[in-house]
Amino acid sequence: MTSGIPATLIPGDGIGPEIVDATLAALDALGVSFDWDVQQAGLAGLKSAGDPLPDAVLDSIRRTRLALKGPLETPSGGGYRSSNVRLREAFKLYANVRPAKTLIPGGRYDDIDLIVYRENLEGLYMGYEHYIPLDGDPHAVAIATGVNTRQGSRRLLEYAFAHAVANGRKKITVVHKANIMKTLTGIFLNEARDLYREHYQDRIEMDEVIIDACAMKLVINPWQFDTLVTTNLFGDILSDLVAGLVGGLGMAPGANIGKDAAIFEAVHGSAPDIAGKGIANPVALILAAAMMLDHVKLYEQATRLRKAIDQTYNLDQVRTGDLGGTANTKAFTQALVARIRNG
Ligand code: NAD
Repeated sequence: MTSGIPATLIPGDGIGPEIVDATLAALDALGVSFDWDVQQAGLAGLKSAGDPLPDAVLDSIRRTRLALKGPLETPSGGGYRSSNVRLREAFKLYANVRPAKTLIPGGRYDDIDLIVYRENLEGLYMGYEHYIPLDGDPHAVAIATGVNTRQGSRRLLEYAFAHAVANGRKKITVVHKANIMKTLTGIFLNEARDLYREHYQDRIEMDEVIIDACAMKLVINPWQFDTLVTTNLFGDILSDLVAGLVGGLGMAPGANIGKDAAIFEAVHGSAPDIAGKGIANPVALILAAAMMLDHVKLYEQATRLRKAIDQTYNLDQVRTGDLGGTANTKAFTQALVARIRNG
Protein backbone atom coordinates (compact mmCIF):
# COMPACT_ATOMS: atom_id res chain seq x y z
CA MET A 1 0.00 0.00 0.00
CA THR A 2 1.49 3.32 -1.07
CA SER A 3 0.20 6.14 1.03
CA GLY A 4 -0.46 9.78 1.13
CA ILE A 5 0.86 11.45 -2.03
CA PRO A 6 -0.43 15.04 -1.76
CA ALA A 7 -2.49 15.97 -4.82
CA THR A 8 -5.19 18.43 -5.80
CA LEU A 9 -8.48 17.02 -7.08
CA ILE A 10 -10.76 19.20 -9.18
CA PRO A 11 -14.04 17.39 -9.92
CA GLY A 12 -14.98 20.02 -12.53
CA ASP A 13 -18.26 20.56 -14.35
CA GLY A 14 -20.84 18.47 -16.21
CA ILE A 15 -19.78 14.82 -16.26
CA GLY A 16 -16.64 15.76 -14.26
CA PRO A 17 -17.84 14.59 -10.82
CA GLU A 18 -19.19 11.32 -12.32
CA ILE A 19 -15.94 10.36 -14.05
CA VAL A 20 -13.87 11.57 -11.07
CA ASP A 21 -15.83 9.20 -8.79
CA ALA A 22 -15.13 6.33 -11.17
CA THR A 23 -11.42 7.24 -11.26
CA LEU A 24 -11.19 7.40 -7.46
CA ALA A 25 -12.81 3.95 -7.22
CA ALA A 26 -10.18 2.56 -9.63
CA LEU A 27 -7.29 4.17 -7.72
CA ASP A 28 -8.72 2.90 -4.46
CA ALA A 29 -8.93 -0.65 -5.83
CA LEU A 30 -5.28 -0.36 -6.88
CA GLY A 31 -4.35 0.45 -3.30
CA VAL A 32 -2.83 3.78 -4.27
CA SER A 33 -3.45 6.44 -1.72
CA PHE A 34 -3.40 10.08 -2.67
CA ASP A 35 -3.92 12.71 -0.03
CA TRP A 36 -6.53 14.63 -2.05
CA ASP A 37 -7.18 18.32 -1.56
CA VAL A 38 -10.57 18.73 -3.27
CA GLN A 39 -11.03 22.11 -4.97
CA GLN A 40 -13.78 23.61 -7.11
CA ALA A 41 -13.11 25.40 -10.39
CA GLY A 42 -15.02 26.18 -13.59
CA LEU A 43 -18.74 26.78 -13.17
CA ALA A 44 -18.51 24.99 -9.80
CA GLY A 45 -15.81 27.48 -8.74
CA LEU A 46 -17.87 30.42 -9.91
CA LYS A 47 -20.81 29.14 -7.87
CA SER A 48 -18.85 28.42 -4.68
CA ALA A 49 -16.24 31.21 -4.71
CA GLY A 50 -17.31 33.72 -7.35
CA ASP A 51 -14.39 32.90 -9.68
CA PRO A 52 -13.97 30.05 -12.20
CA LEU A 53 -10.40 29.74 -10.96
CA PRO A 54 -10.42 30.65 -7.25
CA ASP A 55 -7.13 31.47 -5.51
CA ALA A 56 -7.62 28.40 -3.31
CA VAL A 57 -7.16 26.18 -6.37
CA LEU A 58 -3.90 27.90 -7.31
CA ASP A 59 -2.67 27.76 -3.70
CA SER A 60 -3.49 24.08 -3.51
CA ILE A 61 -1.59 23.18 -6.71
CA ARG A 62 1.31 25.39 -5.61
CA ARG A 63 1.52 23.19 -2.53
CA THR A 64 0.89 19.74 -4.05
CA ARG A 65 2.46 20.36 -7.50
CA LEU A 66 0.19 17.61 -8.76
CA ALA A 67 -3.46 17.66 -9.86
CA LEU A 68 -6.13 15.47 -11.38
CA LYS A 69 -8.75 17.61 -13.05
CA GLY A 70 -12.24 17.04 -14.43
CA PRO A 71 -13.36 19.17 -17.40
CA LEU A 72 -14.01 22.86 -16.71
CA GLU A 73 -16.59 25.00 -18.43
CA THR A 74 -15.75 28.58 -19.15
CA PRO A 75 -18.84 30.66 -18.29
CA SER A 76 -20.03 32.51 -21.36
CA GLY A 77 -20.51 36.24 -20.84
CA GLY A 78 -18.81 38.03 -17.96
CA GLY A 79 -15.50 38.18 -19.85
CA TYR A 80 -13.98 35.11 -18.15
CA ARG A 81 -10.86 33.63 -19.71
CA SER A 82 -10.65 29.85 -19.95
CA SER A 83 -9.69 28.38 -16.57
CA ASN A 84 -7.74 25.67 -18.43
CA VAL A 85 -5.60 28.25 -20.21
CA ARG A 86 -5.16 30.21 -16.96
CA LEU A 87 -4.00 27.06 -15.16
CA ARG A 88 -1.47 26.28 -17.90
CA GLU A 89 -0.16 29.83 -17.71
CA ALA A 90 -0.10 30.04 -13.90
CA PHE A 91 2.06 26.93 -13.58
CA LYS A 92 3.90 27.29 -16.91
CA LEU A 93 2.70 23.86 -18.01
CA TYR A 94 4.60 24.01 -21.28
CA ALA A 95 4.26 20.38 -22.38
CA ASN A 96 0.97 18.81 -23.31
CA VAL A 97 1.30 15.06 -23.80
CA ARG A 98 -1.57 13.26 -25.48
CA PRO A 99 -1.20 9.55 -26.19
CA ALA A 100 -3.66 7.71 -28.43
CA LYS A 101 -3.64 3.92 -28.31
CA THR A 102 -6.12 1.40 -29.68
CA LEU A 103 -7.87 -0.24 -26.74
CA ILE A 104 -10.59 -2.09 -28.62
CA PRO A 105 -9.53 -3.94 -31.75
CA GLY A 106 -11.72 -4.12 -34.83
CA GLY A 107 -12.43 -0.41 -35.20
CA ARG A 108 -11.77 1.63 -38.32
CA TYR A 109 -8.05 1.76 -37.44
CA ASP A 110 -6.32 -1.04 -35.55
CA ASP A 111 -3.05 -1.06 -33.61
CA ILE A 112 -2.73 2.69 -33.24
CA ASP A 113 -0.08 3.75 -30.75
CA LEU A 114 0.77 7.43 -31.12
CA ILE A 115 1.83 10.27 -28.86
CA VAL A 116 1.25 13.94 -29.66
CA TYR A 117 3.52 16.41 -27.84
CA ARG A 118 2.03 19.87 -28.02
CA GLU A 119 3.63 23.15 -27.00
CA ASN A 120 1.12 24.44 -24.47
CA LEU A 121 1.87 28.12 -23.80
CA GLU A 122 2.75 29.92 -27.02
CA GLY A 123 1.74 30.33 -30.66
CA LEU A 124 -1.47 31.54 -32.24
CA TYR A 125 -3.45 29.74 -29.54
CA MET A 126 -2.62 32.38 -26.95
CA GLY A 127 -5.54 34.48 -28.08
CA TYR A 128 -3.75 37.81 -28.62
CA GLU A 129 -6.50 39.17 -30.80
CA HIS A 130 -8.25 42.39 -31.59
CA TYR A 131 -10.45 44.14 -34.11
CA ILE A 132 -9.64 47.25 -36.08
CA PRO A 133 -12.61 49.49 -36.87
CA LEU A 134 -12.98 50.74 -40.42
CA ASP A 135 -15.61 52.87 -42.11
CA GLY A 136 -17.89 52.81 -39.07
CA ASP A 137 -17.68 49.01 -38.73
CA PRO A 138 -16.08 48.28 -35.33
CA HIS A 139 -15.30 44.70 -36.38
CA ALA A 140 -14.07 45.38 -39.90
CA VAL A 141 -10.65 43.76 -39.45
CA ALA A 142 -9.63 40.93 -37.13
CA ILE A 143 -6.01 40.50 -36.12
CA ALA A 144 -4.38 37.68 -34.17
CA THR A 145 -0.76 37.63 -33.11
CA GLY A 146 1.12 34.39 -32.59
CA VAL A 147 4.26 34.33 -30.48
CA ASN A 148 6.73 31.45 -30.50
CA THR A 149 10.05 31.84 -28.74
CA ARG A 150 13.27 29.95 -29.18
CA GLN A 151 13.34 29.19 -25.46
CA GLY A 152 9.68 28.10 -25.34
CA SER A 153 10.11 25.86 -28.38
CA ARG A 154 13.30 24.41 -26.98
CA ARG A 155 11.90 23.43 -23.57
CA LEU A 156 8.93 21.61 -25.15
CA LEU A 157 11.17 19.90 -27.71
CA GLU A 158 13.60 18.83 -24.99
CA TYR A 159 10.72 17.33 -23.01
CA ALA A 160 9.29 15.58 -26.08
CA PHE A 161 12.58 14.07 -27.27
CA ALA A 162 13.51 12.92 -23.75
CA HIS A 163 10.05 11.41 -23.16
CA ALA A 164 10.01 9.66 -26.54
CA VAL A 165 13.45 8.14 -25.99
CA ALA A 166 12.66 7.13 -22.39
CA ASN A 167 9.54 5.37 -23.64
CA GLY A 168 11.41 3.40 -26.29
CA ARG A 169 9.93 5.29 -29.23
CA LYS A 170 11.60 4.92 -32.61
CA LYS A 171 10.68 8.13 -34.41
CA ILE A 172 9.62 11.69 -33.71
CA THR A 173 7.96 13.74 -36.43
CA VAL A 174 8.18 17.53 -36.25
CA VAL A 175 4.95 19.06 -37.56
CA HIS A 176 5.11 22.64 -38.83
CA LYS A 177 4.00 25.13 -41.49
CA ALA A 178 7.37 26.75 -42.04
CA ASN A 179 6.83 26.86 -45.81
CA ILE A 180 4.26 29.65 -45.27
CA MET A 181 4.61 30.84 -41.65
CA LYS A 182 8.36 31.00 -42.04
CA THR A 183 9.21 32.76 -38.81
CA LEU A 184 6.37 31.71 -36.48
CA THR A 185 6.71 27.99 -37.09
CA GLY A 186 10.18 28.16 -38.64
CA ILE A 187 11.65 29.02 -35.22
CA PHE A 188 10.16 25.80 -33.82
CA LEU A 189 11.42 23.70 -36.73
CA ASN A 190 14.92 25.16 -36.49
CA GLU A 191 15.07 24.47 -32.75
CA ALA A 192 14.02 20.87 -33.42
CA ARG A 193 16.74 20.46 -36.04
CA ASP A 194 19.37 21.95 -33.70
CA LEU A 195 18.33 19.85 -30.73
CA TYR A 196 18.31 16.71 -32.85
CA ARG A 197 21.75 17.42 -34.32
CA GLU A 198 23.23 18.26 -30.91
CA HIS A 199 21.78 15.44 -28.80
CA TYR A 200 19.53 12.89 -30.45
CA GLN A 201 20.93 11.77 -33.83
CA ASP A 202 22.03 8.39 -32.47
CA ARG A 203 19.03 7.84 -30.20
CA ILE A 204 15.88 8.28 -32.28
CA GLU A 205 14.88 8.93 -35.88
CA MET A 206 13.49 12.39 -36.71
CA ASP A 207 11.55 13.57 -39.73
CA GLU A 208 9.54 16.66 -40.66
CA VAL A 209 6.09 17.10 -42.15
CA ILE A 210 3.90 20.08 -42.98
CA ILE A 211 0.69 20.21 -40.91
CA ASP A 212 -1.79 19.89 -43.79
CA ALA A 213 0.02 16.90 -45.28
CA CYS A 214 0.30 15.45 -41.79
CA ALA A 215 -3.48 15.53 -41.32
CA MET A 216 -3.97 13.72 -44.63
CA LYS A 217 -1.25 11.15 -43.92
CA LEU A 218 -2.67 10.44 -40.45
CA VAL A 219 -6.01 9.55 -42.00
CA ILE A 220 -4.57 7.49 -44.88
CA ASN A 221 -1.78 5.65 -43.04
CA PRO A 222 -1.36 6.59 -39.36
CA TRP A 223 1.06 3.69 -38.81
CA GLN A 224 3.81 5.62 -40.63
CA PHE A 225 4.00 7.84 -37.51
CA ASP A 226 5.21 7.05 -34.02
CA THR A 227 5.29 10.33 -32.09
CA LEU A 228 4.47 13.87 -33.26
CA VAL A 229 5.75 17.13 -31.81
CA THR A 230 4.28 20.47 -32.75
CA THR A 231 3.21 23.98 -31.81
CA ASN A 232 0.14 24.84 -29.75
CA LEU A 233 -2.69 25.25 -32.27
CA PHE A 234 -1.55 22.43 -34.58
CA GLY A 235 -1.19 20.17 -31.53
CA ASP A 236 -4.69 21.04 -30.35
CA ILE A 237 -6.16 19.96 -33.68
CA LEU A 238 -3.94 16.94 -34.31
CA SER A 239 -4.51 15.47 -30.85
CA ASP A 240 -8.27 15.42 -31.47
CA LEU A 241 -7.60 13.85 -34.87
CA VAL A 242 -5.53 11.03 -33.32
CA ALA A 243 -8.17 10.58 -30.58
CA GLY A 244 -10.61 9.94 -33.45
CA LEU A 245 -8.32 7.18 -34.75
CA VAL A 246 -8.80 5.20 -31.53
CA GLY A 247 -12.53 5.62 -31.08
CA GLY A 248 -13.06 9.19 -29.94
CA LEU A 249 -12.63 11.51 -27.03
CA GLY A 250 -13.94 9.00 -24.45
CA MET A 251 -10.53 7.30 -24.44
CA ALA A 252 -8.11 10.22 -24.84
CA PRO A 253 -6.08 11.31 -21.79
CA GLY A 254 -3.75 14.28 -21.51
CA ALA A 255 -0.97 15.51 -19.24
CA ASN A 256 0.06 19.13 -18.80
CA ILE A 257 3.62 19.20 -17.57
CA GLY A 258 5.71 22.07 -16.20
CA LYS A 259 8.85 22.40 -14.12
CA ASP A 260 6.92 23.03 -10.91
CA ALA A 261 3.60 21.24 -11.42
CA ALA A 262 1.74 18.68 -13.50
CA ILE A 263 -1.99 18.50 -14.19
CA PHE A 264 -3.67 15.40 -15.61
CA GLU A 265 -7.03 15.46 -17.36
CA ALA A 266 -9.22 13.94 -20.05
CA VAL A 267 -8.97 15.64 -23.44
CA HIS A 268 -12.76 15.91 -23.67
CA GLY A 269 -14.95 18.62 -22.15
CA SER A 270 -17.80 18.59 -19.66
CA ALA A 271 -20.26 16.91 -22.09
CA PRO A 272 -23.28 18.93 -20.92
CA ASP A 273 -25.55 16.88 -23.20
CA ILE A 274 -25.06 13.74 -21.06
CA ALA A 275 -24.17 15.28 -17.67
CA GLY A 276 -26.09 13.82 -14.73
CA LYS A 277 -27.32 10.82 -16.74
CA GLY A 278 -24.68 8.45 -15.35
CA ILE A 279 -23.66 7.23 -18.83
CA ALA A 280 -20.31 8.99 -19.37
CA ASN A 281 -17.25 6.97 -20.30
CA PRO A 282 -14.74 7.51 -17.47
CA VAL A 283 -11.80 5.88 -19.28
CA ALA A 284 -10.15 9.07 -20.59
CA LEU A 285 -9.84 10.40 -17.04
CA ILE A 286 -8.80 6.97 -15.71
CA LEU A 287 -6.06 6.84 -18.36
CA ALA A 288 -5.04 10.35 -17.28
CA ALA A 289 -4.77 8.95 -13.74
CA ALA A 290 -2.52 6.18 -15.15
CA MET A 291 -0.28 8.90 -16.65
CA MET A 292 -0.29 10.56 -13.22
CA LEU A 293 0.83 7.28 -11.62
CA ASP A 294 3.69 7.07 -14.14
CA HIS A 295 4.57 10.67 -13.29
CA VAL A 296 4.93 9.83 -9.58
CA LYS A 297 6.87 6.70 -10.57
CA LEU A 298 4.16 4.21 -9.55
CA TYR A 299 4.82 2.35 -12.79
CA GLU A 300 3.55 -1.03 -11.65
CA GLN A 301 0.20 0.40 -10.55
CA ALA A 302 -0.12 2.34 -13.82
CA THR A 303 0.48 -0.86 -15.78
CA ARG A 304 -2.08 -2.78 -13.70
CA LEU A 305 -4.65 -0.06 -14.28
CA ARG A 306 -4.13 -0.10 -18.08
CA LYS A 307 -4.26 -3.89 -18.10
CA ALA A 308 -7.53 -3.90 -16.15
CA ILE A 309 -9.08 -1.49 -18.70
CA ASP A 310 -7.96 -3.83 -21.49
CA GLN A 311 -9.47 -6.84 -19.70
CA THR A 312 -12.74 -5.05 -18.96
CA TYR A 313 -13.11 -4.02 -22.59
CA ASN A 314 -11.84 -7.11 -24.34
CA LEU A 315 -12.37 -10.08 -22.02
CA ASP A 316 -15.49 -8.96 -20.16
CA GLN A 317 -16.80 -6.96 -23.14
CA VAL A 318 -18.09 -4.28 -20.76
CA ARG A 319 -18.28 -0.92 -22.54
CA THR A 320 -20.14 2.35 -22.20
CA GLY A 321 -22.63 3.61 -24.78
CA ASP A 322 -20.18 5.86 -26.68
CA LEU A 323 -18.34 2.64 -27.64
CA GLY A 324 -21.50 0.79 -28.62
CA GLY A 325 -21.82 -0.95 -25.24
CA THR A 326 -24.71 -1.00 -22.79
CA ALA A 327 -22.93 -0.32 -19.47
CA ASN A 328 -23.51 2.91 -17.61
CA THR A 329 -20.66 4.62 -15.74
CA LYS A 330 -21.34 2.70 -12.51
CA ALA A 331 -21.56 -0.73 -14.17
CA PHE A 332 -18.36 -0.11 -16.12
CA THR A 333 -16.58 1.07 -12.97
CA GLN A 334 -17.71 -2.01 -11.02
CA ALA A 335 -16.40 -4.31 -13.76
CA LEU A 336 -13.10 -2.40 -13.87
CA VAL A 337 -12.69 -2.48 -10.09
CA ALA A 338 -13.31 -6.25 -10.11
CA ARG A 339 -10.57 -6.66 -12.75
CA ILE A 340 -8.15 -4.48 -10.77
CA ARG A 341 -8.82 -6.54 -7.63
CA ASN A 342 -8.84 -10.00 -9.20
CA GLY A 343 -6.74 -9.61 -12.38
P1 NAD B 1 -17.22 17.82 -25.06
O1 NAD B 1 -15.93 17.09 -25.17
O2 NAD B 1 -17.71 18.13 -23.70
O3 NAD B 1 -18.37 16.96 -25.79
C1 NAD B 1 -18.32 16.61 -27.19
C2 NAD B 1 -19.20 15.35 -27.43
O4 NAD B 1 -18.51 14.20 -26.91
C3 NAD B 1 -20.54 15.41 -26.71
O5 NAD B 1 -21.51 14.79 -27.52
C4 NAD B 1 -20.31 14.59 -25.45
O6 NAD B 1 -21.47 13.97 -24.94
C5 NAD B 1 -19.30 13.55 -25.93
N1 NAD B 1 -18.41 13.15 -24.82
C6 NAD B 1 -17.39 13.87 -24.29
N2 NAD B 1 -16.81 13.20 -23.29
C7 NAD B 1 -17.48 12.03 -23.18
C8 NAD B 1 -17.37 10.91 -22.31
N3 NAD B 1 -16.41 10.86 -21.35
N4 NAD B 1 -18.22 9.89 -22.45
C9 NAD B 1 -19.17 9.91 -23.41
N5 NAD B 1 -19.33 10.93 -24.28
C10 NAD B 1 -18.50 11.99 -24.16
O7 NAD B 1 -17.10 19.13 -25.94
P2 NAD B 1 -18.01 20.44 -25.96
O8 NAD B 1 -19.46 20.06 -25.88
O9 NAD B 1 -17.51 21.22 -27.12
O10 NAD B 1 -17.62 21.24 -24.65
C11 NAD B 1 -18.43 21.31 -23.48
C12 NAD B 1 -17.74 22.22 -22.46
O11 NAD B 1 -16.50 21.65 -22.03
C13 NAD B 1 -17.41 23.62 -22.98
O12 NAD B 1 -17.75 24.56 -21.98
C14 NAD B 1 -15.91 23.58 -23.20
O13 NAD B 1 -15.31 24.85 -23.04
C15 NAD B 1 -15.48 22.65 -22.10
N6 NAD B 1 -14.19 21.96 -22.38
C16 NAD B 1 -13.35 21.77 -21.34
C17 NAD B 1 -12.15 21.08 -21.54
C18 NAD B 1 -11.23 20.87 -20.37
O14 NAD B 1 -11.56 21.18 -19.24
N7 NAD B 1 -10.03 20.37 -20.59
C19 NAD B 1 -11.83 20.55 -22.79
C20 NAD B 1 -12.75 20.74 -23.84
C21 NAD B 1 -13.93 21.44 -23.62
